[in-house]
Order: sequence, then C-alpha cells, then structure tokens
Amino acid sequence: MPHTDPSTLMIHGVPEQIMPGALHPQWVEAARAKGFELVARVRNRYNLALRCKTCGELVRKAVYVLMTSDRPLCAHCLENAWAKTAEAAGLRLLRRDPGTTQYAFYLAPCGHEIRRQFEFVRRIARGEVKHRCEICHAAREAAEAAARDWELMSADPEGDRGYRLYPPHRRIQVAEKALA
Ligand SMILES: [Zn+2]
Ligand SMILES: [Zn+2]
Repeated sequence: MPHTDPSTLMIHGVPEQIMPGALHPQWVEAARAKGFELVARVRNRYNLALRCKTCGELVRKAVYVLMTSDRPLCAHCLENAWAKTAEAAGLRLLRRDPGTTQYAFYLAPCGHEIRRQFEFVRRIARGEVKHRCEICHAAREAAEAAARDWELMSADPEGDRGYRLYPPHRRIQVAEKALA
C-alpha cells in the first residue's frame, strides 16, 4: 500500500506523526556529524526522524540518543549487517525474534527454520563454531539410537558373541585376572 498521508512519515514500517516545532541547529549538526540527516520531529517532542546517509532509509531516534550517543545506530544498516553475517555463516536471516533483541530466526541450509543468537551466528561466520541444526541432529540421534538397538540384538562386531550380554566392567575384571 503506498504511503500517502502527508502528516506522517513511514519509518521502519510504522507511520510516525510529524510534529510541529523548530529543528534546532544543534540537532541538525549532531545528525550530520553522526551519519544522518535531520528530516522532521515525529511522534512527540522527544523524537526525530533521521535519514541514514549510509543506506538512505529513515530511522526514528530520541533526541537525547542523537545528542548523547557517539554512534547512534541505524536499524536498517544493522539488519543489513546481520543479513550479511548470516550469509557468511551459510544461513539466511528470516526475521528478528520479537521477544528479544539478541535472537533472530534463520533458514538453515537443510531447510529448517532455526532460532539463533546474533553473536552465535557471528561466531559461525568467523569459523569459530560449526552450525548445527537441532532438528536434523535429533533425527540423526534417533536414527543412531535405532541402529544401536539393532546392533545390541545382533552379533558383537568383534566376534565375541557373549560380549553384549554382560556389563562391560565385568569383562574387564576377567581380563585383569587373566593377566595376573
Ligand atoms: Zn542505514
Ligand atoms: Zn535441519
């Protein structure tokens, strides 16, 4: 749906009400110095609409954040960075977890949707840890357990037919006595 209401600005999917009032020169200057362009006052007297110089998108920032933060973040640039990191980790960023700022949902190469911490995905991208899909892992474990059960009922691979019938420690005791 095209955004047509002239009294609002669409910021990150949210229509923000444009507020009257002066755009103070110190705000304009702070925005410019920190990678943004001051566009308007929005929502209430504490918030500003800024255009990110890096990606060209609009962000909403509290006045005090603009004035006090050394590097106010652009949510769009941040998401772009996460998407790139995900790509480097072999995953695809699907969406952020609305419940926490630390997690997002990703599409794994196997096709499963997984929830991961951003930091963990960064570590995968850096090659420090390996990606593992718990759905595939659980399936693999179940298959392995089934194979083990089957193995227990079958002959011992080393040829000792009675081996599986006795607890392992008992077998060791017998071996020690035999050596003495
Ligand atoms: Zn940006
Ligand atoms: Zn999987």
